[in-house]
Parts: sequence; C-alpha cells; structure tokens
Amino acid sequence: MTARILDGKALAAELRAKILAETAGLGYRPGLAVVLVGDNAASAVYVRNKDAAARQAGLDARTIKLPAETSQAALLEVIAGLNADPDVDGILVQLPLPAHIEPRPVIEAIDPAKDVDGFHPLNVGRLADGLAVLAPCTPRGVLKLLEHAGVALSGARALVLGRSAIVGKPVASLLLAGNATVTIAHSRTRDVAEECRRADIVVAAIGRPEFVRGDWIKPGATVIDVGINRLADGRLVGDVATEECFGHAAAITPVPGGVGPMTIACLLENTLLAARARRPILCRKKDVLF
Ligand code: NAP
Repeated sequence: MTARILDGKALAAELRAKILAETAGLGYRPGLAVVLVGDNAASAVYVRNKDAAARQAGLDARTIKLPAETSQAALLEVIAGLNADPDVDGILVQLPLPAHIEPRPVIEAIDPAKDVDGFHPLNVGRLADGLAVLAPCTPRGVLKLLEHAGVALSGARALVLGRSAIVGKPVASLLLAGNATVTIAHSRTRDVAEECRRADIVVAAIGRPEFVRGDWIKPGATVIDVGINRLADGRLVGDVATEECFGHAAAITPVPGGVGPMTIACLLENTLLAARARRPILCRKKDVLF
C-alpha cells in the first residue's frame, strides 16, 4: 500500500478562492483586526502572512502593532475598541504575548462573536457541547482535510495525540461531533504506540519530531500530522515519520504543505462566518452562532 498524500496547500488555495468569491458577492468586506504586541520575529511573520492572505481573500484586514511595553490595561482598551467597532468582524490577538501580560484575561475580553481564533471560553464550551461555533482554525483545517479525503468519521476509531487547548482538545471535540470514537493520548499515556495501532484516524499534535513511527499505523489508516518541528540541520518535519508510514497508511498529510496552510484559510473562513452571523442581512440559517 502506498499512502495517498493529502495536499493541504491545494485544498487551502481552493478554500481561499471560494472565500474570495463569496466575499465579492456580499457587497461588504468582512473586517479582520490582528493585534501584535511586541517584536517576536516569528509572530511578526505569522501576522504578516495572515494580513496578506486576508487582503487577497477580499477581507478588510488591519494589523494593530503595539510596543512590547504595552500594559495589560492598554491592551484591554484596544480590544474594547475593536469589540465596539462595527467594521470589525473578527479579532485575533497573536500569541504568545510579552511575559508581563496575562493571556487569559485578554482572550476573555474579546467579544465571543468576533473571536475568530475560537479561544474564548464561551466558544470552547459551545464546541465541547457540539453546538455551532467559531472553532479554532487548525482543528477546523484538520477536519476539512479529512472531509476532503472522503474519510468517514462516523464509527471510526480516532486517536488524537496531544491535549492542548489550541489543537488536541478542539480536534477531539470536532471528531466526536462527527461521531468518531475518540481517544486522546498525552505525555502520561501508558502505551501511545498501542493506542495508535488501534486507530483508523491518527491526528498527531505533540511537537515531537517524527515521534509516530510507521509500524504504529494500522494498515489503511489516515494520518494527519499537525506538528511543525525545525531540526538542527534546518529541515522542517512533523510529529510523524512520514516516509515510514507510506507502506501502512492509506492517506497522510505532508509537513510542510499539509495542515499548516489550512490554518490561515480557516481563519479567513471564520472571519466570513463571523461577519455573516453578526449581520442579519448577510446571515443564512446555518450562520446563526449565538
Ligand atoms: P503543546 O501545547 O506543547 O501540547 C503538546 C501536547 O502533546 C501536550 O498535550 C502533551 O502532553 C503532548 N505530548 C508531549 N510529549 C508527548 C509524548 N511523548 N507522548 C504523548 N503526548 C505528548 O503543543 P500544541 O500547541 O498543541 O502544538 C503541537 C504541535 O503542533 C507543535 O509541533 C506545533 O508547532 C504544531 N502546531 C501546528 C499548527 C499548524 O498550523 N500546522 C498550529 C498549532 C500547532 P501533556 O498535556 O501531558 O503535557
């Protein structure tokens, strides 16, 4: 068996083109505000990419850059302003924040209806309850890749490796909503390899280079690799030893070019969804969020 490669770059391009076409048809440009505090180099690149992708998709993107010494109170004021701004449909505060700022109150200050990262506790709770929601972008990307690959979730055994609030837990909630039988493994799981061998779907999100080995994969399983790890020699690898899996898996995402590109595309989609949900004139029945 040679695994099919699930091309996230191509799927993300398709989704972005669809968002551009939909935005053009709205007669209104959904607004996305991205807040960057400080000068973390990686964050600056992520924010630039998000801003550029949003503009290309026809969104009204703005980046608010604040100095590293911005106080927590000043940041909360900026968020309050964006919450009140009718032209802003989506708000994203780029993490990590400088050490003197507590992330939790910042996330909780964002209007849940504009929370396009899906990190506000109200959205987290709604997702856990299986309700319509602005779900976190990387998990949404994972589900879209599975859907596009034609993988049936209902009744499938799914193993989610990692239990972070950003990836592992929301992926598990979305798989559960799709009626998969979900197991979540983490650093205290007794035998991760054995859990893996039982799974029809493996989603790896642990941040350990090539941790999942080929002989852990059940023949015919689908493997979604969320991990992004930079090796000492400069190579970028996922959490899965991809080549080892070719003879076992039916389908697998590459790193790079798998889940990564889907994350920004899903951010754009969340912004469009938030814009529709907030405006009765644009809102279809399926867009009702709150
Ligand atoms: P995280 O917050 O560090 O969480 C890692 C999770 O993996 C934790 O739940 C941890 O368990 C578990 N874990 C660590 N070592 C393990 C081991 N040896 N066996 C089993 N479980 C283990 O990481 P994250 O933010 O979820 O990110 C995970 C990976 O995805 C990273 O490589 C990150 O760069 C990547 N990522 C990619 C995207 C994208 O757009 N493609 C987006 C976000 C993240 P405990 O809870 O027990 O500590």
